[in-house]
Amino acid sequence: MNYRPSTLYRQKLPNTIKEQIYDAIGKGIASAGNTPIQLFFRADDIGVPSASFTEMIHLFQKHQTPLCLATVPSWLTSSRFRQLEAITGHEPNQWCWHQHGRLHKNFEPEGKKQEFGPARDYQQLMEQLDKGKTRLQSILDDRFIPFFTPPWNRCSEDTIRALKRLEFKGLSRSAGAQPDSTPLLPDIQVNVDLHTRKETDPAKVLNDILNELEQTLANGRTGIMLHHQRMNTTALLFLDLILACLTQYTNIRPMLLQDFIQP
Ligand SMILES: [Zn+2]
Repeated sequence: MNYRPSTLYRQKLPNTIKEQIYDAIGKGIASAGNTPIQLFFRADDIGVPSASFTEMIHLFQKHQTPLCLATVPSWLTSSRFRQLEAITGHEPNQWCWHQHGRLHKNFEPEGKKQEFGPARDYQQLMEQLDKGKTRLQSILDDRFIPFFTPPWNRCSEDTIRALKRLEFKGLSRSAGAQPDSTPLLPDIQVNVDLHTRKETDPAKVLNDILNELEQTLANGRTGIMLHHQRMNTTALLFLDLILACLTQYTNIRPMLLQDFIQP
């Protein structure tokens, strides 16, 4: 896996970074008018304790903001979970421990990477999802929330059917993901990517992130995807500024995946 930080974080941030972030977020919120804005954060590739995991969690504790933790079943052990929870605390209102790809491996022989793509049939996908769910439930106990984030934000129609059958309550991919899951399950999509962007020019990375923040806030729902393995000190500072700005606004509602489901 590629753990290299984006070019934006491999150099010093511009001196005006705070003003730029506050300006983009302020504009997005002004465009939303009086509509309450739904906001959630989703951190992927959880399961192994590390300094970067701890630093990310400390930021969310500092800003008292909820965070969804997409956990890789084959990486998590009881001992690792004890170490992770020593950092997060129990706090069921702050963390949404949910399921990521069981092995976090690509199974597609060609095309875009997918663990839950068309290369495997319904029965195979069902078995993998079930094994992952059983493992997480046994380790996480009542902390486990039945939502699924597919690796690389993609999965097949069969995967969605299997998730429904296994009584998952929803999934989380990226904005515009196909196939549409809504007849079966809600898809709580991320639409801002802070750490796995393809652009190489740091100025363009920054510009695109700020545009995504502004546009999604203006539209009333912002889902921010994080990858702690790719966060260095500069990336932490950037996220700290975003959290500090967002938490100033009372019309923003920070949520967990399960909060999007109507009771
Ligand atoms: Zn992942």
